[in-house]
Amino acid sequence: MKALVFNGPGQIIYESFDDPKITKPRNLIIKVTKCSICGSDLHPYHGDKIAKIDFSQPVERFCTGHEMIGEVVEIGSDVYRHKVGDKILVSGGRGCGECRPCQMGQVNHCLGYIKGNSATVYGISNQLNGGHAEYFEVHNADLGAIGIPDGINDEQAILLTDALATGYYGVKMSKVKPGGTVAVFGQGPVGSMAVESAFAAGAAKVFAIEPVEFRRAKAALLGAIALHPDKAVRSIMEQTKGVGVDSVIDAAGKESSLKQATKIVKLGGHISVLGILQPGVQIPLNYLQLKSVSLHTGVTGIVDLWPELLPLVQNRKIKGEGVFTHQFKLSEGAEAFRVFDANEDGILKVMITPD
Ligand SMILES: [Zn+2]
Ligand SMILES: [Zn+2]
Repeated sequence: MKALVFNGPGQIIYESFDDPKITKPRNLIIKVTKCSICGSDLHPYHGDKIAKIDFSQPVERFCTGHEMIGEVVEIGSDVYRHKVGDKILVSGGRGCGECRPCQMGQVNHCLGYIKGNSATVYGISNQLNGGHAEYFEVHNADLGAIGIPDGINDEQAILLTDALATGYYGVKMSKVKPGGTVAVFGQGPVGSMAVESAFAAGAAKVFAIEPVEFRRAKAALLGAIALHPDKAVRSIMEQTKGVGVDSVIDAAGKESSLKQATKIVKLGGHISVLGILQPGVQIPLNYLQLKSVSLHTGVTGIVDLWPELLPLVQNRKIKGEGVFTHQFKLSEGAEAFRVFDANEDGILKVMITPD
């Protein structure tokens, strides 16, 4: 098959790669119909270090991508919820399905693969191939994939594989309440989904902090009060009469945004950090302690949120409109990575279709 293959930092190449085979009875194979690039795919692209893998050193080539939907073409002997021909959306990360956290529905706390020193996120290392490909092996498919229900389009289905679940997770973990005030740092796809999710949770006022103008304009269209980071702290404190906001979601994951978050969160408020932090980021914990702020960091389990999220999307409480600004063919994947990384041309998110 053809796929986007990681050949080193900055070198994503559209080239031949071995067809995936079913390696475990609970796995299945899809023909990928659509896929997208996530901000976290840019870490290997930049040669960053993720967990124990240092991408500045040579690694074995692998297919990238953890946001994909497709049609089931082959199933393992222990797959019960899917059949050949089904259209499914796949969680960006896998759970072993056997450990206690997985059985409690907390796939993000899965112990199984960690014990085996194996990756949980697809397409971010040579341990687990991703779905920027014509065909893709879904692991533990009964747990990690779901049929695409009526009323959910391809764009929404892709958002449900990661970005929407992540934004929604931030809203849950920062305890957004009906009538509450919320601030979201970063208006990339995850931040944008956090804004929509906060309104769906009943937030009265949502501030969206973002340096890029068109992203602020998009946030304003969703009903948020969009602010440049340079003006955010002052403006939010003025607009909340010096109190600050109940909930902060940091989808930027930068030291600068975290410092601002500590200033605008109210006494007894909640901060959820979704952006993947690089080593050495400093957070003024002493300040948070004096304000009795609870700080949450984490990575969403995705699949455990689908039962709540699917109805919100089907009922159009969360729409995910206007997120996919650019379309590419799989053969143009290297260019898709380049434009997405360079933040060029008003790009927010790419939709990639196998040729
Ligand atoms: Zn992701
Ligand atoms: Zn597990």
